[in-house]
Amino acid sequence: MKIFCVGRNYVDHAKELNNPVPKSPLIFMKPSTALLTDGKPFYHPDFSKNIHYELELVLKISKNGKAIQEKFAHNYYDQIGLGIDFTARDLQDDLKAKGQPWELAKSFDHSACLGNMVFKSTLDMTAIKFNLTKNGTIVQDGNSKDLIYSFDYLIGFISQYFTLQTGDLIFTGTPAGVGQIAIGDVYKGYLGEQQLLTCEIK
Ligand code: ZN
Repeated sequence: MKIFCVGRNYVDHAKELNNPVPKSPLIFMKPSTALLTDGKPFYHPDFSKNIHYELELVLKISKNGKAIQEKFAHNYYDQIGLGIDFTARDLQDDLKAKGQPWELAKSFDHSACLGNMVFKSTLDMTAIKFNLTKNGTIVQDGNSKDLIYSFDYLIGFISQYFTLQTGDLIFTGTPAGVGQIAIGDVYKGYLGEQQLLTCEIK
C-alpha cells in the first residue's frame, strides 16, 4: 500500500510557514513503514529537535484506478479519517534550503499516525469540520470546505501519475496551527464531535 500526502492545501497553513500557495498540488509519499495505528504512542526520534504535528483528513482508496476523471473520483474512496503527518521541521527547512527531497523529514518510521475511519456516506463531504487537541486545548481547527484542491481533484491528479490501489491512503493537507511536539503530550483528533484519533508522545 502507498501513502500519498499533499503539502500546502490550505491557504492559512501555507501562509503560517511563509510558503507560496501552490499552482498545482504538491505531492509527496511515505512508505508503509511510516504507519502508526491502533492508538499506539509516538516515540520521539533523536534525529530531530523540532517535530511538528499536522492534523489531516485522510482518504482510504477502495478501488484500483488509473487516470481517474475528477467526476468519477468519488467512486474510488469510501472511508475518511484523521491522521497526523509528523514532520521533522528542522530537517525539512534544511532540505528545502538545499533544494533536496523531503523524505528524511517526512517519511521516517511512524510519521503517519492514523486514527479510526468512518464511511463517507455518513458525512456531508463538502464541509467536514475537524480539530486537534493538545493536552485538552484545541490547536488546529479545520474544515474541508477550505481545501485548495478538493478530494476529487486530488484523486484525479495523483492517479495520472500513480495507479491507485485498494487500501492506499491520501493525507489531504493540514490547516493552520501546526506546532512542535514534546514528550508527554497527548493529541486527540475529532471529526465533528467524534473522536477518531489519539496519540501520546513518548
Ligand atoms: Zn502534512
